[in-house]
Amino acid sequence: MNQGIEHVDVVIVGGGMVGLACASALKGSGLQVVVIERCEAQPFESLGMDCRVSAIVLGNQRILEGLGAWQYLQADAQAMHSMKIWDDQHAGGIRFDADEIAEDALGYLVENSRLQAALKRSLLHSDTVQYLCPASIEHIDWLSDRVKMTLDDGHQFSTPLIVGADGARSWLREQADIGVYARDYKQKAIVANVRPLIPHHGVAFQRFTPSGPLAMLPMKDGLCSIVWSQFNEEAEQLMALDDVGFKEALNMTFGPVLGRIEEVGRRAAFPLKAQLAMHLVRPRLALIGDAAHSIHPLAGLGVNLGLRDAMVLAQEIVDAKKYGEDWGELSVLNRYMKLRMPDVLTVMGSMEGFHRLFTSPMPALPLLRGLGMKAMGNTGVLKHLLMKNSAGLHLPVPKQIS
Ligand SMILES: Cc1cc2nc3c(=O)[nH]c(=O)nc-3n(C[C@H](O)[C@H](O)[C@H](O)COP(=O)(O)OP(=O)(O)OC[C@H]3O[C@@H](n4cnc5c(N)ncnc54)[C@H](O)[C@@H]3O)c2cc1C
Repeated sequence: MNQGIEHVDVVIVGGGMVGLACASALKGSGLQVVVIERCEAQPFESLGMDCRVSAIVLGNQRILEGLGAWQYLQADAQAMHSMKIWDDQHAGGIRFDADEIAEDALGYLVENSRLQAALKRSLLHSDTVQYLCPASIEHIDWLSDRVKMTLDDGHQFSTPLIVGADGARSWLREQADIGVYARDYKQKAIVANVRPLIPHHGVAFQRFTPSGPLAMLPMKDGLCSIVWSQFNEEAEQLMALDDVGFKEALNMTFGPVLGRIEEVGRRAAFPLKAQLAMHLVRPRLALIGDAAHSIHPLAGLGVNLGLRDAMVLAQEIVDAKKYGEDWGELSVLNRYMKLRMPDVLTVMGSMEGFHRLFTSPMPALPLLRGLGMKAMGNTGVLKHLLMKNSAGLHLPVPKQIS
């Protein structure tokens, strides 16, 4: 091997929530891991909190506990005890309560920047994980037994496996010439933190309107995080309003469930696309998180899927090491792909179904939705099953790497 090239066991491109989780999962394995992150993420502050927020389901909160990251996050995480979903054409709707599945919470709301910081802290005492930031790859060579790369600072690495965790517009996926199946919803999600008059008591609200869902998610200090999905034109109009106008529009759409919305913070808008990479793996490459798949945020499951990818991939790498296999070979990576596809396709399919059910102009659909919600509310077993599945408690995903 050339002098100056550092050989490591795994290189992870992207130090977002999913890339860091993968590094954290590998930290006790003895494998030398390098994380390459382009730039340090800055929180987008809205009423003093990051307005990029994730609902972490119970199964994934346990993963974060296993990674040693939850202890740094716990004090800032807001438990979601219940969730109420309704649509604007039917009274009633459906409510899910954590005690129906004998748990304290359905999940937790966390600011993305805090989750990232907690994952980084979980890596602090590891002498096998290097976190390089700001850094990016300038040149990459795909060889049959390894990948060689040169970073923008001239540093060179070679590795049997490179992991793409560099988000929906993955540079690495492009370098590997992997296309995507894409669906543009022609919608934007407006996010902001807001302060309602009435305390939320840990209840998350989701209201479906014909132009898209409006989620009001409970946060610490009495705040709520909104995720308001609207078709592009309406979203642009809402973004152009001043705070008073936006507050009025929000109050009109959400209704009086939490009294009035008294204060709204800085807003940001994200274009909504669903995307699935045509290959999750290639020899010497695995894609995880949004680089592999991204979904509509209406059920808040994107990063949840990504954390599960990270854990399954890490476990396959560690197992391959134990049994003397080369973890960059397709036979090993295919095991990761096969374990993850059912979960990924189920979640992507349900998001697409929900989106169509709630935004299609077909006249029979509102009736069908109303009947569906009623049936679900009245059928304890079905509801229980849905809740258990959504909590991600029984999926074939390790909560800790062994
Ligand atoms: C409005 C909205 C609300 C959402 N709410 C939820 C929710 O409640 N729950 C949930 O589970 N999910 C939610 N999601 C989805 C979630 O945010 C994403 O699934 C998640 O951010 C994906 O994480 P990631 O680490 O895979 O990618 P990213 O967060 O995109 O991170 C990628 C990282 O890679 C770095 N990077 C990119 N290119 C390079 C490069 N060439 N070299 C080095 N580094 C690079 C970036 O700087 C970044 O740090 C929501 C999404 C949106 C848009």
